[in-house]
Amino acid sequence: MKKTPFVTLAQLRAIQERYPTPFHLYDEAGIRRTARSLHKAFDWNPGFREYFAVKATPTPAILKLLKQEGCGVDCSSLTELMMAERCGFSGRQIMFSANETPAEEYLLAARLGATINLDDFTHIDFLRQTIGYIPRRISCRYNPGGTFRLGRSKEGFQVMGNPGQSKYGFTRDQLFEGFRKLKGMGAEEFGLHAFLASNTVSNEYYPALARELFTLAVQLQTETGCRISFINLSGGVGVDYRPEEPANDIAQIGQGVRQAYEEVLVPAGMGDVDIFTELGRFMLAPNGHLVTTAIHEKHTYKEYIGVDACAANLMRPAMYGAYHHITVSGKEEAPCDHMYDVVGALCENNDKFAIDRMLPEIEKGDLLVIHDTGAHGFSMGYNYNGRLRSAELLLREDGSVEQIRRAETPEDYFATLVW
Ligand SMILES: *Cc1c(COP(=O)(O)O)cnc(C)c1O
Repeated sequence: MKKTPFVTLAQLRAIQERYPTPFHLYDEAGIRRTARSLHKAFDWNPGFREYFAVKATPTPAILKLLKQEGCGVDCSSLTELMMAERCGFSGRQIMFSANETPAEEYLLAARLGATINLDDFTHIDFLRQTIGYIPRRISCRYNPGGTFRLGRSKEGFQVMGNPGQSKYGFTRDQLFEGFRKLKGMGAEEFGLHAFLASNTVSNEYYPALARELFTLAVQLQTETGCRISFINLSGGVGVDYRPEEPANDIAQIGQGVRQAYEEVLVPAGMGDVDIFTELGRFMLAPNGHLVTTAIHEKHTYKEYIGVDACAANLMRPAMYGAYHHITVSGKEEAPCDHMYDVVGALCENNDKFAIDRMLPEIEKGDLLVIHDTGAHGFSMGYNYNGRLRSAELLLREDGSVEQIRRAETPEDYFATLVW
């Protein structure tokens, strides 16, 4: 679908007077709309909850907004747990899914009453040694190995992910043994979790994953006698970063999961299982823009536009060669008849937001909107080349703009140094 920014040039010029570029801008209306569409898609499951993956956008104003929409949080580190606590999340509103987990993180997760999702069989003993007991409610992460494929189509199987090469989760046998062991140590309510493919643009991923987990859950409950109270489909529902890609239809995805639920869990007498998700990208990516100013043009073997943002503000293109759509604010309808590399200032030749991209003619001072940066954007930032993290701003539903994180200053960068 054609990508249009959620702000106009006039709005951006006004924002720019108070907050210099580059900055990340989030759209409150869009975030609320996305959360509501997800909840509507799963309203057939009374215990449904989205645990927003904090690592995607670890900013308190965003977490509080999602809390108002009924979401919990999925944390994966000590500081994410601390942030969740300070934002007012507690108990069952927090999922803790980490791996190679340090002891102090389990201690804090247990103190907050978070639901702990174990990544490995050996963590059963590690958790008990660390916190002194096994919580009554506990979850385990499953890794089926091999490749994760979607059903047969004319083209054959579509490979979605490669769990056999991923470091996460219990094997199938370890899961049966682990559930029995946890039950023997006092656990009474069990959860099953799996994350088998990232950024899927297919309405079939969640339903296929759900069917596999539901089938396994029935076997686990039958063979081990452990009561399964929730199944966590985790993250992985993606977004259409490219305008020509089809967008996911969350209503259809919800119906696909419902069908698997009614065909597998309900007949097994497990119609009371709660469905959880831990979406990050789907919730936030389209609801964020990285806004940057064109500050240089360079004509050598190629045409370059130098901008004031760099890979330290958005790492995905440099790290994965990821596509992010770019529009030039105020020139949304202009013909894309110029080919540019849009580049940042890092001393790394992969610091390119776009390569050979057809765009309208860009003049110095133009504002470029880099789309779909609301998740895994700011949060993956780093300080290479002494580059500083930008501000984060929230466009409120009433059109006002709030700074929800200030930009780093040189003092911040120097704060940890010993001279
Ligand atoms: C990263 C992560 C997510 C979120 O993934 P998205 O692709 O942003 O939806 C969810 N759960 C876990 C355990 C993760 O590590």
